[in-house]
Amino acid sequence: MSSEGKVLEKPLKVEDLLQRNVWDVDEEPHIAIPSDDQSGIPKALTLLCPCGCYTKVGEKLLYSYEGCLECGLCRVISNNPRMKWEYPKSGRGVHYRFT
Ligand code: SF4
Repeated sequence: MSSEGKVLEKPLKVEDLLQRNVWDVDEEPHIAIPSDDQSGIPKALTLLCPCGCYTKVGEKLLYSYEGCLECGLCRVISNNPRMKWEYPKSGRGVHYRFT
């Protein structure tokens, strides 16, 4: 029997797919939340961010921008006018690999 048309035997996990991406991290953060005012930043981001950029330590929300997938979710669901969210400079940030 030919192997053509054979379905993948083992489904890929999201983590496996994410590891194929490449990041060209800019030294200037494209996300910034003032440490003295985290109002309007939902703690649920620790569960919702697809790449785990948000962590809760005590009552404080810590974040990193280096592994960001630029999905924009934290920008959309946050309501803090002092939060900065913009795309990384041209050519920087995540480079998706679909194969
Ligand atoms: S833009 Fe998306 S991937 Fe990036 S930190 Fe926000 S929620 Fe996470």
